[in-house]
Amino acid sequence: MAPWRGLIDSDYRPRLPVHPGTPAVSLHEGNTPLLYSRHLSGRTGCEVWLKVEGANPTGSFKDRGMTVAVSRAVEAGAELVLCASTGNTSASAAAYAARGGIASAVLVPASGVARGKLAQAARYGARIVEIGGTFDDCLRIARALATSPGVALVNSVGNELRLAGQRTVAYEIVDALGAAPDIHCLPVGNGGNITATWQGYVAYDRGRPRIWGFQAAGAAPLVHGAPVPAPRTDATAIRVGSPATWAPAIAARDESGGLIAAVPDAEIFAAYRELGSHDGVFAEPSSAAAVAGLLARHRAGRLSPGSRVVVTLTGNGLKDPDAALRADYSTTSADPTAPDVARSLGLAA
Ligand SMILES: *Cc1c(COP(=O)(O)O)cnc(C)c1O
Repeated sequence: MAPWRGLIDSDYRPRLPVHPGTPAVSLHEGNTPLLYSRHLSGRTGCEVWLKVEGANPTGSFKDRGMTVAVSRAVEAGAELVLCASTGNTSASAAAYAARGGIASAVLVPASGVARGKLAQAARYGARIVEIGGTFDDCLRIARALATSPGVALVNSVGNELRLAGQRTVAYEIVDALGAAPDIHCLPVGNGGNITATWQGYVAYDRGRPRIWGFQAAGAAPLVHGAPVPAPRTDATAIRVGSPATWAPAIAARDESGGLIAAVPDAEIFAAYRELGSHDGVFAEPSSAAAVAGLLARHRAGRLSPGSRVVVTLTGNGLKDPDAALRADYSTTSADPTAPDVARSLGLAA
């Protein structure tokens, strides 16, 4: 079998907006695990699969679009990759810019970016600008600066390059399962991923799932039908009050016969713990919103038994260690002797 060399040099290349001369700026993103969840399947009476996007090179699905956007930016002679971010876009943009040999600058909210993501942007060498405002402020400013010469804005809003790359998740799922699932669950923040996932299934044309998107209850503009000025949730990757990809996200919901619903943080964090302790998958809190949403639909009797369901786990739990250590867990201490450790573990002497 040929080794995996990333999306641009894969069989999906004809579906990506690259030219014969486009340099592939890649960290071998894509080809992520699709894991069967015995736990969630048992809990729901369905066949539940987890698309583990945290296995991408910078730990989130953002790498799928970034390989395309940065490759094209390098081809076009850009000198600076610029983005606004709740964290993962900045980590990905900075990594791909470094790989492509150009500079990056990231605009992030001064509070609410998970520490692992900031650590990534720092180590990939980005210029980090912390803005005393929300993600929505960062995006507004990034868009205003995008017209400067040599600057490539790599946010997904209106960015066909990013969306085209992100569509590949649907191609991989269809190739792995042999057909589209009945239902595809994912968290929704700015709306790019729900849009790209739906468009991917449509373009691949081997069945269409209902798309079930979930927002955090304190940051659910697409559910309420109006922007939320002060979005609140500890799932920081989906703390977005004014989704830039609004109309296409609603179209993905409606054309697929799906829904976009809200889930409270308490349920998001319960699902977050459950995923780790029952499936061995450490995803970030925002990813768990999709699991929480699936379980809520099941509880409400709105999930047909036997459905085949795919859940996108959008990002890696390691990115947000503070969230992980805030949720309840147990430690015990012991003296450095085997008998004392045996005592603290309750093992027979
Ligand atoms: C970006 C991101 C989201 C939200 O995706 P949108 O395209 O903004 O809707 C969800 N989870 C994680 C981990 C993300 O990085």
